[in-house]
This record gives sequence, C-alpha cells and structure tokens, in this order.
Amino acid sequence: MSQNTLTLSLNEGHELAIKAFLACGCSNEQAQAVAHNMMLAERDHSHSHGLFRLPGYLNGLKNGHINPNPNPSVSLKTPAVIILDGDHAMAPYAFACVQQQLVENTLKNGCSLLALRSVHHFSSLWIETSFLAEKDLCALACTSYLPSVAPFGARKIFGTNPMAFAWPRLHKPPLVFDQASAVMARGDIMIAEQKQQQLPHGVGVDKNGNPSQTPSDILQGAQLAFGGYKGANIAMMIELLAGPLIGETTSLETAKSAPSDGSPPAGGEFILAVNPALFGDRNTADAYAENMFAAILENPDAKLPGDRRYKNREHSEKNGFSLSKELHDKILKIAEIS
Ligand code: NDP
Repeated sequence: MSQNTLTLSLNEGHELAIKAFLACGCSNEQAQAVAHNMMLAERDHSHSHGLFRLPGYLNGLKNGHINPNPNPSVSLKTPAVIILDGDHAMAPYAFACVQQQLVENTLKNGCSLLALRSVHHFSSLWIETSFLAEKDLCALACTSYLPSVAPFGARKIFGTNPMAFAWPRLHKPPLVFDQASAVMARGDIMIAEQKQQQLPHGVGVDKNGNPSQTPSDILQGAQLAFGGYKGANIAMMIELLAGPLIGETTSLETAKSAPSDGSPPAGGEFILAVNPALFGDRNTADAYAENMFAAILENPDAKLPGDRRYKNREHSEKNGFSLSKELHDKILKIAEIS
C-alpha cells in the first residue's frame, strides 16, 4: 500500500458507498443495490465502474438529477415485453427491482425483452448479463450515453455504447463479454492525458476530423469506433435498441438535457434474455458450445472473455482492492462525511 493508496476489503468498500449514499439522502434500498453493483465491479477489477463512479452518482443525488427515493414501476406490454419506468433511479436499483420477474418470465415464455427507461446509467453491463446467465439464460444488454464517438469526420454522434453478452454454461461460470464500441474507453484517454502519453493510431480524431494521437486533441475532437465502419454500425444499432426501440433517447437527444455536474444523464437500457432450454436439447447445446470454447483455447495465447475477471475475483475476495486516497477523500468531501 503506497501513501496515496488505501486497501479496503469489499465489505469496507460497500459500507463506504452506503454511508455516502445515505448522507446524500438516498433510500437504503437504492443505496444497497448500487453499492452492491459497484463492489461487484471492484471485485472483478472493473475499476472504471466501481467506486470511481460514486462521486458522479452523489453529485446527481445532491443536485436533484437522480431521484433519491425512486419508485420504479413495471408494466407487462405482452408476456415477453417488460417495461420498467425507473422514476429516475440509478440503473442498478431499477434492474434489481425487476430482475426476478425477468428471470421467471423468460424461463416460462422462452424470451423477454426488458426495457429500462428513465434510469441513470454508470455501470458495467456484464453484471446484469452474468446474473441472467447464472439462471441458465442467454442474455444481451446494451446502452447508449452521451455523444463522444464520430462515425465520420469529427461530429460526435454515438456514445461509447457498450454491449454485453452472456452464455450460460452448465458446469462452469458463464461466458461473458462486455465491451464498449469505441476503440478506447474515454477514462483511459483522460488518464493518458494526465500522464502526457501519446495514444496509438486509430483511437480518435481532432476537432477538424484529422487523425490524432494526442489525448487532449481527441477529447476535444472525437473518439472512433472499433473496426472502422463496422464498429460504427454496431454503435448505431445500440443507439437504436437502447433508444427509439424502447421509447428512450439517442445519445444526441440525451445530451440536450444532460447534467453538467459529472452525474449520469437519464436514458435507457435494452436487455434481451432467452431460455436456451426451450429451443432444443440443453445438454447438446452445452456440448457444442463447450467444444467451441475448447477449440479456441487449444491456442496457448487464447483466452475466453471473462477469464481475467474470474481470476481477479479470487484475488480481491482474499485481499480486498485498492482505492486511491484522492478518490476516497473526494467521496467523503462530496458526501460531507468523515
Ligand atoms: P475491454 O476492452 O477491457 O474488454 C472487452 C471485453 O473483451 C471483455 O469482456 C474482456 O474480458 C474481453 N477480452 C479482453 N481481452 C481479450 C482477449 N485477449 N480475448 C478475448 N476476450 C478478451 O472493455 P471496454 O473498455 O470496451 O469496456 C469496459 C466497461 O465499460 C464495460 O464493462 C462496459 O459495460 C462499460 N461501459 C459502460 C458505459 C455506460 O454508459 N454504462 C459506457 C461505456 C462502457 P475480461 O473482462 O475478462 O477482460
């Protein structure tokens, strides 16, 4: 532990988040759900969506953007279409309010589309898709955000637009990938700017649309989607699925009323859950999937998505996680606690 870093157990991290949330007027139910979500992220070393996001949430609560005591409501449009109006809750709480119903509906009906609306999203999507895959469901989730990715030139149109997919394995933890559709996470570009490091080719463009490797130019200009126009098309699909399809905004529309205090704006999330047991023999499906994963892993350099997180999980459960003193102090200051 350096002078600038604290080591906390996962439980201590959870308690810190709860204390800060409650001090900002958040209900205990919502505080518990969001703290749990952030600590799952810390546990698996998804640090950019762990306590790093707490100051943004706290600002949103204090400044009236996020509802401290929301009352999310569920409506079933058809047995397979679940709409959850989040009442301006933080997204992890909104999901927690409907997750059991989503599982039961999907096991019974074969598939469900969950539309989360009016939620404030700042979390890693693998947490939700993993939860569903642990119930033996296949899941896909995506969300948009604020414009930061340009499909052409320098006009920012798309959010960094993550998409998470989870496949349930009968005898192993789920296979999960969760990736933004930008080449590099915005937070990583900011860190490179602080360290005065140049970025690899292809991360972004300056404000005139010219390729740049300088972080500050890209932050003023625009990020690029992975894989050129193919990634940009996926980012566009995510805008449509998590926005107009489910009665929510695109990143461009979200920006029109986004808060300026670093808190997450209101928006939507698209979650599709499918029960593989309703389509054929579950054991055969599992065997085919496992054969494919084994074939990938025949190459000693290969790994399956999620493996890194599972290894990190073991480490943090034993040893806790690191929190910068700067972030710790910032949380205490915003929440006005000691
Ligand atoms: P990464 O590029 O770090 O990882 C993307 C995925 O690829 C992970 O599932 C990772 O698995 C997997 N992976 C990494 N290396 C390999 C490899 N060699 N072979 C196979 N698979 C591999 O993630 P991103 O930076 O794109 O996204 C980070 C997070 O940010 C996500 O959790 C996303 O949900 C979140 N996000 C949230 C937003 C929001 O508005 N709420 C906006 C944008 C992003 P593993 O985890 O095991 O490393």
